[in-house]
Parts: sequence; structure tokens; C-alpha cells
Amino acid sequence: LQTKLPAVGTTIFTVMSALATETGAVNLGQGFPDFNCDPKLVNDVSQAMQQGLNQYPPMPGVPALREAISRKIEALHGHHYRAADEITVTAGATQAIITAILAIVRAGDEVIVLEPCYDSYVPNIELAGGVVVRVPLTPGTFRPDFDRIAAAITPRTRAILINSPHNPSATVWSQQDMLRLQELLAPTDIFLISDEVYEHMVFDGQTHQSAARFPGLAARAFIVSSFGKTYHVTGWKVGYVAAPAALTAEFRKVHQFNVFTVNTPVQHALAQYMADPKPYLELPAFYQHKRDLFRAGLARTRFKLLPSEGSYFQCVDISEVSDLGEADFAQWLTREIGVAAIPLSAFYGDGFDQRVVRFCFAKKDETLIAALERLAKL
Ligand code: PMP
Ligand code: GLN
Repeated sequence: LQTKLPAVGTTIFTVMSALATETGAVNLGQGFPDFNCDPKLVNDVSQAMQQGLNQYPPMPGVPALREAISRKIEALHGHHYRAADEITVTAGATQAIITAILAIVRAGDEVIVLEPCYDSYVPNIELAGGVVVRVPLTPGTFRPDFDRIAAAITPRTRAILINSPHNPSATVWSQQDMLRLQELLAPTDIFLISDEVYEHMVFDGQTHQSAARFPGLAARAFIVSSFGKTYHVTGWKVGYVAAPAALTAEFRKVHQFNVFTVNTPVQHALAQYMADPKPYLELPAFYQHKRDLFRAGLARTRFKLLPSEGSYFQCVDISEVSDLGEADFAQWLTREIGVAAIPLSAFYGDGFDQRVVRFCFAKKDETLIAALERLAKL
């Protein structure tokens, strides 16, 4: 069989979660909470179902939810997206990203990705017939290297994908970074896909610098987010895209044929739940507590801690702990120590091994403490 994606196997997240289950390891690999969402949210979904809100909603999403998203973005970032023709509800960020790519990338178009990057980006670009142009983030710090990004731009560059707060490195782009990007793209007509799924998890008093805050970026951007991350419901697979009307029109041409629309009762529940900003405003403190608890425990091991500025990830350098490559180390750690992690090499096309693994701290405190007790041996 001539496959379309010869390099693609089972995702590392599925592989490591299966190994964690098989071995009884504490699963700090795949990124998802091990605690439940707010019971009010479950109640809101149940009520929507009981009210009979169980048939297809409008193709771009339930209007009340699009209105709520619009109000939130305007309140936080001062940019107004019209609910009618600039916001689309998606089946998670994953569908949002592939739909944006399919909507704009033509055969032979180049798309810049910054490595390490989330594992769906590259196959998405390939499925669209695009050419992937990989630009490394600065080794060691994972900061954007604008000279290298500038050097990667050609007349064929159609789009650039960015992700802040960043999975896997947990770095957060500064206002300065976004201004540099805006300046770099100004003379071009390159589209921006800005993956902001961890937008509400930024620590130490920093502010998430959404592309919506920068007019020169917002005018060319598909901004992607995910309710799965923000409300601890990764399995619900609901997210959204905010983009100027002309871009949204192209997005919806694809969206109506690859998913058409998204789960009705969940959209109604999310619309109601979003009326109260408290849950997302409290999220930084909620996760900063977990980050600090986890880091304090890791500081007593020989792992070298990398900064965790945002997201729910913590990366560690393993070189003082083991001579193994990071992929073998992640397997060993799961089997022998009983804690699952994700090797960063999974986020690089060439499997670059820098002796770093990623832990997810979106876990009950007791889970983090149990993992730390096991890791204390290292
Ligand atoms: N982008 C990034 C950076 C992610 O970490 C994730 C979640 N793993 C996604 C996109 C996909 O989000 P969703 O589950 O809403 O499809
Ligand atoms: N985004 C999650 C992570 O990075 C996993 C999502 C998935 O399993 N595809 O761990």
C-alpha cells in the first residue's frame, strides 16, 4: 500500500498511556487531568440534554457559545471578533488546526513549524499537500529565533504555526516576541496559525500574549483554543477558532465537510458556564500551585529542572540521572520507577535527542506526591 503518511505511527501519547496502564505506573505522560471537572458543568450538559437540545446546532456553532467566546476574547485581549462570522466552534483544537491548514495550504505551499512542535502539525501539513519547513526553537531555552525564522521565509511560504504557552517546553512568548513576529510578517501575506490551547495557564504574574492583541497578527491569524484544557474536559473535544471574516469563510468551507458541526448539549453548557469568568481567571493559580509542588519535589532529585512558565508541563534534563537516550529513558522510568513521561524527541521530525523528558502536572496533588515518592530514588 502506498500510504499518504509513511512516517506516521501511533502517537507517543497513546503509546506511553498504554504502557503506564500495563505497568501500573503513575501516568505523567499524556497531557490530561486525573481529576473531574466542575460538577456544575456536568449538570449544565445534562440539563441541556433534558431540555431536548440534542439535534444539529448551526454549522459554525451554537450562537450563545460564539457570543460568550467573543466577549471573553474582547475582555482579555481588547479585540472584537464578531460571533456571526469570525468565530467557529470546533471538535477540539486538533480539528481546528487541521481545518485551518486544509483551508489555506495548497499543494506545494511551504508552512513553517517551530520545533519541537505538537505532533499533529506536520502530518496535517502533509495531508494538505504542503511542504513542511522546520525551524528549531533556540536549543536549551526553546525561545523563538527570529533570525532563523526570517531565513526560512520564501515567496512560497503560506503560513507559520506558533504555540504559546508551548507544548512541550512550557515556555511562554513575551510581548516582545509577538511584536518581533508582527514586524517580520508585516511585509508578507503569510497566514498565522496561533495554537493558544494553554492560554489560561500562564504563571508568575505573566500575561498570555494572544495574537488577538496585535492588530498586524490578528488580521492574518487563525487563533485556536480548547475547552478541554481550560475546563478539565479533554475528552469532550470542543474548541474554537477566531479569525477575520475572510479567513473564517474559508475555514468554514472545510469545516462544514470535515465535521459539519459539534456536540450540541456540550456547546449549550459551555455557553452558560462561560458567563462566569472565575474558572478561567483562577486557573493560573490553580496550576501554579501544582507546578510549585511538583518542582519542589523534583528539586530533590538529580533531574535538572527547566523553567515552566505556562501550560501544564514540566520538562527535566535527565543527563545526571541516566546514560540512556530520552526515549529509552521514558520507557525505563515507566517500567522500573513507575512514572510515565514523554521524551521530547517525539516532538521533532528527526527524533532529536537532547536528554529531556516532559511530565504533565495536571494531576491531583496526591498523584503528584505519589509520583515524587517514586522519583525520589533518582
Ligand atoms: N495543541 C496543543 C499544543 C496541544 O497540547 C493539544 C492537546 N494535546 C492540542 C492542540 C489538541 O487539543 P484538543 O484536545 O482540544 O484537540
Ligand atoms: N495534547 C496532549 C499532550 O501533549 C495529548 C493529546 C493526545 O493524546 N493526542 O500530552
